[in-house]
Amino acid sequence: MASTYEPIQRDLEDVPTRVLYVAGMGRSGSTLIERALAQIPGATGVGEVVFLWDRGLRRDERCGCGERFSACSFWQRVGKAAFGGWDQVDTHEVAALAREVDDLRDIGQLAGPIVTRRFRAQQRRYLEHYERLYAGIREVSGCDVVVDTSKLTPLAYNLRRSERIDLRVLQLVRDPRAVAYSWTKTVRRPEVLDREAYMPTYRPSYMAALWSGHNALLELLPRLGARTDRLRYEDFVADPRGSLRRVGALADLDVSGDALDFVTDGGLELGPVHTVSGNPSRFTTGSVSLRRDDAWRGALPANARRVVTALTWPGRRAYGYDATVEVRAEAPPRHEEVRAMGQQPVQEPNAWPSVGVVLVTHDRPALMRRALASICSQDYPGRLEVRVVFDRAEPDDSLETDAGTDTDDRRVRVLGNTRTPGLCGARNTGVLDLAGDLVAFCDDDDAWEPGKLRRQVAALEAEPAALFATTAMVVDVGGRSVVRTLGADRVRLEQLIRSRLTMLHSSSFLARRALVTENGLVDETLPQSMAEDWELLLRAAAQAPIVHVDEPLVRVQWGASSHFVHKWADKNAAHLVLLERYPAMARDRIAAGLMLGKLAFGHAALGERRTACRHAVRAARANWREPRWVLALAVVARLVTADRVMTELTRRGHGI
Ligand SMILES: [Zn+2]
Repeated sequence: MASTYEPIQRDLEDVPTRVLYVAGMGRSGSTLIERALAQIPGATGVGEVVFLWDRGLRRDERCGCGERFSACSFWQRVGKAAFGGWDQVDTHEVAALAREVDDLRDIGQLAGPIVTRRFRAQQRRYLEHYERLYAGIREVSGCDVVVDTSKLTPLAYNLRRSERIDLRVLQLVRDPRAVAYSWTKTVRRPEVLDREAYMPTYRPSYMAALWSGHNALLELLPRLGARTDRLRYEDFVADPRGSLRRVGALADLDVSGDALDFVTDGGLELGPVHTVSGNPSRFTTGSVSLRRDDAWRGALPANARRVVTALTWPGRRAYGYDATVEVRAEAPPRHEEVRAMGQQPVQEPNAWPSVGVVLVTHDRPALMRRALASICSQDYPGRLEVRVVFDRAEPDDSLETDAGTDTDDRRVRVLGNTRTPGLCGARNTGVLDLAGDLVAFCDDDDAWEPGKLRRQVAALEAEPAALFATTAMVVDVGGRSVVRTLGADRVRLEQLIRSRLTMLHSSSFLARRALVTENGLVDETLPQSMAEDWELLLRAAAQAPIVHVDEPLVRVQWGASSHFVHKWADKNAAHLVLLERYPAMARDRIAAGLMLGKLAFGHAALGERRTACRHAVRAARANWREPRWVLALAVVARLVTADRVMTELTRRGHGI
């Protein structure tokens, strides 16, 4: 798209305009910092330039000097210098271009190496407005550095593409709990003269997700070649001189001599600035005191604080907001307590059905023997047969005859996997060799509590229409035990579409044999047997609600070897298969957020940043409360490694 404006003055064309762009979340103190910077000779602050086109040009709101935009002589001269007069600017065009190229959903093209020609052309036209505007501001103010506090992340990504803008980005951060609290408060907008207008309020969880996502994306900027620095609002308040020197260095501003004399012991001496939009504090001049404002500590409800703390942890760790007051997660109930608060005892059946158990093992003989012993020592009154299936390993026949494991109603047989190598094929080998009424699974690093089968079979038999049963679990990880319960005694398809429900471990699965033989075996087509347990749960729940015994009757061992850290590609492929097979997942907002968030994290872990960003943005749009997109962006921005996230989650008894 060609320019429709008169050529700009020659000397303005030749030297790029140095722009100090303040990025980050609103309510992080950017207005105050901008006004301080504007006191430094050679720098001028113009507020949130991104809103100039609408709030200044179209709505004629008040400038920081107190005049309406159309009456402010500074802005009138800028309009003339930049565009030959504001009437030359088509604000509708700028708004349309912003929708096309200046949105978070464009982050793939903004950050990635591949850009469509159409996007490039629109971006060029969009940037021309900013290039001219900044050049005009430079000419009228006579200042070399233009401070823009627009803060929006996509605009920073756009501006870095311009050769006529010498961009420096200051990433301003503030404790997310303070930011989130601030956005819950109602603040009047004094720049709107013809009516009462207020700044919007947002829920803390929303602001926390944005805080994490935007900061992660801003961390990516220097890696794409942009000149950036980071400033914590709390550090600015504690040491304004030192902070301003640092920002001065970023913007190549001379802060020697008496340049910082406006910083006094009590605060800052500030004059008026022609800011086009910003925090209402921009209208107060004279002595301004500096304070951290920790009101959130007393005023942010515990619940909201917990949510914000949880949604922002990688960033908080990276920026040093960890040492402040933390809300500790509630300790999980102890095993005995959970058992005591279990459901009403279920009526036991008159005749106990026979149960076949498939125990798949690879190469963990000691753990596997523990698992086998826990099966053979069940207090189950009915007949019990076990198939130990060796997957890609030499079968150990001695297990069949070992003392205590082979009696008439406790028969053990050892098999080699005769089907597709991997967990699924091995499970099917066992299933097809069994003839019992019910089939149960146990993994070789897990173990059953002695009453597991008895409680679970009784619950299943009490529901003749039910086909599948699960139990809660205890996760042993890093010397700690974490109990994971569901809080319900039924699992429905809608729940499983929206969540993997990781407390339903495959070592607790119990099914009527017909379900896993006549209705399709365990799915061997899933890459590396990934998500096969979720697939089976979905398939079972599609037939009838799953019966769930919400007691931790299965003990699951979690360690580095069991959470597939290095199999992200297979995991991603399996999740795509599930998305295809269960269209309800893509249709449901929460389910789509979950799956896209999983994919985003999987790609981030593989270092596929562009794909990760794309999925993360889609996940955020589907459900901004979904934490996985935030974690994925944190990994993309290298705020935290995927391994670290997995370790932290595992420690809490969770998966991604
Ligand atoms: Zn003004």
